[in-house]
Formats: sequence, structure tokens, C-alpha cells
Amino acid sequence: MGVDASKYKEIIGELGDVKLVAVSKIKPVEDIKALYDLGQRDFGENYVQEMTDKQTHLPKDIRWHFIGHLQSNKVKYIAPFVFMIQGVDSYKLLAEINKQAAKNQRIIQCLLQVHIAAEETKFGFNEDELFAAIEQYKKDQLKNIKLSGLMGMASFTEDKNQVRKEFFYLRTIFSEMKSLLDQPDFSTLSMGMSGDYHIAIDEGSNMVRIGSLIFGERVYNK
Ligand SMILES: *Cc1c(COP(=O)(O)O)cnc(C)c1O
Repeated sequence: MGVDASKYKEIIGELGDVKLVAVSKIKPVEDIKALYDLGQRDFGENYVQEMTDKQTHLPKDIRWHFIGHLQSNKVKYIAPFVFMIQGVDSYKLLAEINKQAAKNQRIIQCLLQVHIAAEETKFGFNEDELFAAIEQYKKDQLKNIKLSGLMGMASFTEDKNQVRKEFFYLRTIFSEMKSLLDQPDFSTLSMGMSGDYHIAIDEGSNMVRIGSLIFGERVYNK
């Protein structure tokens, strides 16, 4: 199938100031290069090994976003090149990212993932845990990460009101955390995917993560 260039251009036109992360998980390097040639620079991947492999074959000015669930013991593999780690879901992970970033003399941007969906299976902090993590972060002054904002995934449901409520909730927490932290770098609210990004933007998202609309459906069993 490959990249849908006209859909990509349409989305870019719609987004305005909202940042697009093109989610390229399980898609080949050729598709990423095709989108790169259309001007896209931010790409999102879910698997450590896959992102690490792809990165060696692609231009160095790509900003790689890790958007999957990351285990602490794997941070070291992506620390040399990753731009932003979305989906940080524990303080332990944040501290490990800081340590590995320091080893590489880098600063890695991080988003804390908040659990906003009804489904138990999704990862992320609840509100209390998030407050605690941010308080800890303020004490520790982790110098090699930049805490850039929050990320969340809404429920996988046809119920648009439910999705809207969840995004509204995340936006509210984002504002609270922003005043708690009082640092201008905390400015990214990553919410919205192929199926719900219009609602997410309505509710205040400034970064969307879109895969299948641009790259086509993902077929996992080849
Ligand atoms: C796969 C994935 C996306 C993109 O999903 P699409 O529905 O293909 O747009 C966005 N965010 C996360 C965290 C993902 O895992």
C-alpha cells in the first residue's frame, strides 16, 4: 500500500500549529523515507529493537519519538538517539532515562503518560501518582531530561462523548500540572490518534500521533 501522500497533506493542512508525530511502527523504512521526502521529521515507534534498527538506515535529522511501553532495562538502547520518550509511566523509568541520557551527554524530552481510558490494560499514572512523580521530579532536578508535558490514550470505543470526556480530563490535569511545575518547557499535550484526533484537538491537544491514516492499516501477521 505505502504512504498516502494526499491524506498526509490534507492532515498537515488541518493541523495548523498542532504537531504531527507520524506513527511508523511495523512499517518499512521505505515508507518512512517516502514521508520524510514530503517534509515529515517526527516519527513514532513502539518497539525498541525496531526503532533502533530503522534509525541506522534513515536520515539523522529525524526526531524519533518512543511511544510504546518502555522497560527500564531497555532505555540504554535508545538513549543515544531518541528525541522524545512519550509514555513514561513510572518515576523509576524517568530516573533511568535521566541516567542514560547523562551517559550519552544528551537531554531527552519526556512526556508522562496518564491513564485516562476505561480499559485497565492501558499504561499510565493516575492523578495521585502523577502529582507524587512531579513533586519528586522537582526535588531531584534531573538534569538530562526535559519534562515536556503529558500524553494519554482514550478508550477504544465508538462512544465519542466518552472519548471527549477523557481528553477533557487530561487537558484539565495538564493545566494543573503546568501551574504546579511552573516551567515553560512543560508545554506538550500529546493526545489523539487516527480515529480520534479531531476530538483531541477540540479538547486542547497540541500533538497528535497518527499512524494508519497515513501509512495504511497495520497487518501484524504477514
Ligand atoms: C499505534 C499508536 C498510535 C497510532 O495509532 P493509529 O490508530 O494507527 O493512528 C498512536 N499512539 C500510540 C501510543 C500507539 O501505540
